[in-house]
Amino acid sequence: MKKILLVLLYSIPIFASMHVTAAYPYIGELVKAIAHDKAQVNVIASASSDPHFVVPRPSYIGMLRESDLLIINGGGLEIGWIPPLLNQAHNPKIIQGAAGYLDLSSYVKLIDKPASLSRAQGDVHAEGNPHYLFDPYNIPQLAKVIMFKLSTMDPAHKSEYHANYDVFAKHWENKLGQWEKTMAPCRNTQAVQYHELFSYFLKRYGIRTVATIEPLPGISPSSKHTLDIINQIRTDKIGIVLQDDYHEPKTAQFIAAKSGARTIMLSHDVGGQNDTLDKLFDTMVEQTCQR
Ligand SMILES: [Zn+2]
Repeated sequence: MKKILLVLLYSIPIFASMHVTAAYPYIGELVKAIAHDKAQVNVIASASSDPHFVVPRPSYIGMLRESDLLIINGGGLEIGWIPPLLNQAHNPKIIQGAAGYLDLSSYVKLIDKPASLSRAQGDVHAEGNPHYLFDPYNIPQLAKVIMFKLSTMDPAHKSEYHANYDVFAKHWENKLGQWEKTMAPCRNTQAVQYHELFSYFLKRYGIRTVATIEPLPGISPSSKHTLDIINQIRTDKIGIVLQDDYHEPKTAQFIAAKSGARTIMLSHDVGGQNDTLDKLFDTMVEQTCQR
């Protein structure tokens, strides 16, 4: 009888102990890289939707209700949609300030913090630019923060989290070396982007953003603003226009056709063809710096 019980016991699958909800796919990827099968990971936003405005669904509330840990990008990026979901989920484990609430923006330096705020500046990011994901040098730091958080919440698997982090960090270091080489010829060039979404990436590799297609964050471009950009591209010989995949691409395409610049369509998160975090950056590097 004892033997049968033991056999039964060992044949029961070991279920993931921790339920983690990630606000964005890239965070989910980082958690999976560190936790492997030790956590069950759910992701709310997708690569095809505007990261600033995620449309709430009842399933998200269910996810949050079951979560032991919520990891957000922070920096105000989720300000319009995470707080209402948390209010409805009523899960004290993952509210702001609880042990199960991790805001990754607290561990990186945000750029472009506005000196003053007013409505006239459009829908500004009051805490600075929250799209820090696009500095690939931030990624190992984010992975490390997640590793420490998982280790604290689930100390039984601490050594595995540390080992998985080491593998991830080593792989990422190799990728950083490759990307430096590919991006090197594009240092000291200039770019236009729709929203200041790729600012960290451009800044990292020495490419200056000289204009944005939206005149102010969240404001659609006027014809005058569009013509000004075309003239600026012609005068300053700006080579590239970076376009995300959730704003309308027609203005960028029009600007490119009239000015001779190259439009580059870039994803803003892991998904589709860029199904891993390093592929997302591989594509960004290949597309941005073509020589
Ligand atoms: Zn933004």
